[in-house]
Amino acid sequence: MPLLEFTNKGIYCDQAQVYIDPWHPVKKALITHGHSDHATSGHRQYIASALSVPIIKYRLGSHIQIQGYPYGETFSINGVKFSFHPAGHIVGSAQIRVEYKGEIWVASGDYKRSEDGLSTPFEVVKCHTFITESTFGLPAFTWKSQFEIINEINAWWQKNKEEGKISIIGAYALGKAQRIINNVDGSIGKIFTHGAIENTNEVLRRQGVAIAPTIKVDQYQAKDAYNGGLVIATPSAINSSWSRKFKSQSSANASGWMSLRGARRRRSVDRGFIMSDHADWQELLDTIKETGASTVYVTHGYTDIFSKYLREIGYDAHAVKTEYNGDEEVLSEDMLAETVE
Ligand SMILES: [Zn+2]
Ligand SMILES: [Zn+2]
Repeated sequence: MPLLEFTNKGIYCDQAQVYIDPWHPVKKALITHGHSDHATSGHRQYIASALSVPIIKYRLGSHIQIQGYPYGETFSINGVKFSFHPAGHIVGSAQIRVEYKGEIWVASGDYKRSEDGLSTPFEVVKCHTFITESTFGLPAFTWKSQFEIINEINAWWQKNKEEGKISIIGAYALGKAQRIINNVDGSIGKIFTHGAIENTNEVLRRQGVAIAPTIKVDQYQAKDAYNGGLVIATPSAINSSWSRKFKSQSSANASGWMSLRGARRRRSVDRGFIMSDHADWQELLDTIKETGASTVYVTHGYTDIFSKYLREIGYDAHAVKTEYNGDEEVLSEDMLAETVE
């Protein structure tokens, strides 16, 4: 029996009787990070990286039974050694290393290689078998440096300010939002936040993560209080009644999907900034190579196309069906059809 198996509840280690990021309730769940497609509710016991414990509790309830381990610390369950290692995706995100009788597997969760100034930078972990995501596993996906993207956002914000417009940008509440808040040029104006984002900021600030100053959008504040400001909203709040209260505005969305034809139009935003918390095509390939793994399992996104390519270049690679559904960069069916056309 392989060390890890792919079951209808999630990735399973039979020897330790634990699941990794299970989507159906189990006794013992190891969680890679706080996004809702990975940290699901209903498990009897949770184990996660120490840094991600506050956000998982905030999202799933303070009643959950959860234990945190610092990055790199090994713990054993029935003879199997486990440890969490930085995945660079969001604060606290981890790859999970699993070792038993000399065999080593790593489950990556979601990851990216570029440093965002917030998440602990990705660490390469040597293994025999690597379970990789492939959210952006097509050659068309190549990211610019964070420096370039942030400059584009600053320039857009500055121009809107000069034209008397409020800048509203859609970003995922956990991860992308804080990445923008902490890296844009705060001398341009004030940064306002949607309630869901501000609540997340507060959880992170309480655990000691430095988040630049923000002001929660308050519907009773004078309308001109937002002039020259940058409003960070959840993607679904863009073009909703929530965002329509800002009279003269320019809207934008920050996502890896903004590199797709039609994505900006679908979101009905004025600008699309291509900023992702996932690895691009080249980063996926480099990472797999650096792990030294010969066997690769592919989850998330373009699993069939990406695993086929890996087989062509000599890996023992397999696509894995998962039921991850969540609040982050999940691709809708019609957008997927559009990319491969
Ligand atoms: Zn994620
Ligand atoms: Zn994910």
